[in-house]
Amino acid sequence: MSDTVLPGDKIALIEECEAGKNSYDDDGLIRSMIVGKSEMNKKERLIDVENQKVLSVPKTDDIIIGTIEMVTPSMIAVLINYINGKPVKSQVECICSIRNLRKRSPALIKDIVKARVIGTLNGVIHATIQDKELGVLFTKCRKCGQDVVLFRDIVKCIECGWTDDRKISTDFLQSNFLKMRE
Ligand SMILES: [Zn+2]
Repeated sequence: MSDTVLPGDKIALIEECEAGKNSYDDDGLIRSMIVGKSEMNKKERLIDVENQKVLSVPKTDDIIIGTIEMVTPSMIAVLINYINGKPVKSQVECICSIRNLRKRSPALIKDIVKARVIGTLNGVIHATIQDKELGVLFTKCRKCGQDVVLFRDIVKCIECGWTDDRKISTDFLQSNFLKMRE
């Protein structure tokens, strides 16, 4: 059993259990110290309140999946949707350099990319899409917006036949599940 509680909320009686993590004994009443979910540990007769805030800022070497929000000749800005496979709702962005990729259009706005975090500089999260498994997971035709199929590292529109290059991830073909989310 778990309930969302606020600081000061009564979460149990001292007869039932003792104060555990993030809770305190207030003259016989156990109250929460934080916003979170209360969890009764029946075995140890403790009541804990778990912090609900998901750690949503990626660390170096974390693998992120995100949606491209901006493309310039030298970099892309990616809104992070997943960190190491876990969905995140916070609006955190990272920046990937595309200068050394030698592609005409390594990625487009709204493409979904996989990237690896390489560090933080002045509060900006930097990531790379350079490795084989990194890069575009899902993209559309630049000309008409229709779906594309992959031929080696070239994408071809199934509607108008336009071909384009991308920095494709080796996971590209398995990425249809992302398409289904739309
Ligand atoms: Zn097209």
